[in-house]
Amino acid sequence: MKTKVITIGRAKIGGGNPVLVQSMTNTLTRDATATVKQIRELEEAGCEIIRVALPDMESVEALKEIRKRTDVPIVGDIHFDHRIAVEAAPYLDKLRINPGNIGSEEKIRKVVEAAKHNSLPMRIGVNLGSLEKDIEAKYGLTAEAMVESAFRHIKMLEENDFEDIVVSLKASDVPTTVKAYELFSEQSHYPLHVGITEAGTLSTGTIKSAAGIGILLNKGIGDTIRVSLSADPVEEVRAGWQILKALKLRARGVEVSACPTCARANYDVSKIAKEIEEKTASVKKGIRIAVMGCGVNGPGEAKEADIGVVGGSDGHLLYKDGDILKKIKEHEIAEEVIRLI
Ligand code: SF4
Repeated sequence: MKTKVITIGRAKIGGGNPVLVQSMTNTLTRDATATVKQIRELEEAGCEIIRVALPDMESVEALKEIRKRTDVPIVGDIHFDHRIAVEAAPYLDKLRINPGNIGSEEKIRKVVEAAKHNSLPMRIGVNLGSLEKDIEAKYGLTAEAMVESAFRHIKMLEENDFEDIVVSLKASDVPTTVKAYELFSEQSHYPLHVGITEAGTLSTGTIKSAAGIGILLNKGIGDTIRVSLSADPVEEVRAGWQILKALKLRARGVEVSACPTCARANYDVSKIAKEIEEKTASVKKGIRIAVMGCGVNGPGEAKEADIGVVGGSDGHLLYKDGDILKKIKEHEIAEEVIRLI
């Protein structure tokens, strides 16, 4: 189902807009200097929407300072205390708060008023680990339970005439998460923020997230993504972009395809691919490079890429835009490719 367009500060999501990469700071928000520094690092890596946790009023005070120093769309992550949401709203671009956890109808109304007054959308973030007890008793810890929970929170907002809503339905296992998003998207036009929660460390979490987010995006489900890692959040952004690039949804930076090498390789493919990747990490334009060890699969891949190298027994062929430019020696490969980039 085509999702509704929602505006988050300078960003637009849903309705066929590009899928945006999101992450979350892990500094203490009340330390404005450290948080702004991390926001800049995340932006530099390609983060387009940044969530910050607002656990207390001290953090809201720091948010006022943070807001002055960045215009990246900021999402305030708030639980239970509606006063924090109301106080922080003028300095945010989106709220992440579950209305069912705030308490009374009066408190929900106050948060909705603050969101409307400041043109903020709200994300309802359903997490399998914190479902309402009655829903858990009815369905167990299942995708169906997550979807029912989401619709319960949505109803509370819609009853307050508020429909600027984004939804996420996260579990730490891939099949449950995928099923929840599939079920929800069959029944609702609200945009979806997708990810696997508590996915794990850099390697495990990236693979789990790539599997889950990849399945969903390939079905056209998902408007923003977050790779949740127990690691530097900059790694979340890098992984998010790798997923979008692998699915050919968006292009950013240099993408190096390299063959796995075998006994036919005519040069050290792995060393050169790594050198090119490291030396071009700051390039923002989407450029495809093929680093191939020999003439078996090399020419086809090199022609498809923007720049390619194919190993030969008496010299290596450098390609640009599908054509052979010249023959080069092994020690010239990285330098020549970087020069062309
Ligand atoms: Fe081996 Fe050549 Fe294939 Fe690389 S491109 S894996 S060297 S056959």
